[in-house]
Amino acid sequence: MSEHGLTPSGREYPVTLTDAQWRERLSRDEYGVLRQGGTERPFTGEYTDATTEGTYSCRACGADLFTSETKFESHCGWPSFFTPLAGDAVEYLEDTSIPGRPRTEVRCATCGSHLGHVFEGEGYPTPTDQRYCINSIAVRLRPKG
Ligand SMILES: [Zn+2]
Repeated sequence: MSEHGLTPSGREYPVTLTDAQWRERLSRDEYGVLRQGGTERPFTGEYTDATTEGTYSCRACGADLFTSETKFESHCGWPSFFTPLAGDAVEYLEDTSIPGRPRTEVRCATCGSHLGHVFEGEGYPTPTDQRYCINSIAVRLRPKG
């Protein structure tokens, strides 16, 4: 993924750290997903089946990204949401890393860290028919209350 601290549209991310600073702030596994675009193994993340009410924020910068109200059971092995908290909380990039299977990558709009991918038209009974497939390790749940 991009290392230059600029969003796809060319603006600078509100939170921009050097690679060394990200490595210091994040665990090795967090860094591998958030800053290197990795994917945690399915059914291993701590929030895959979480039903606790609250807000999910970016584990890299703390920006609020998703709420438990839009989380649904997709049975895909990762936490799934049908919409982000706000339209500008995340940004999208075309991901062509798998030949013949273009995907849409989802990143935090505040710091540019990789969160997961979004898929649509899969037939899930949600208001948007979109599935934001998000790595547990890329977010942190702040329980309501
Ligand atoms: Zn972030």
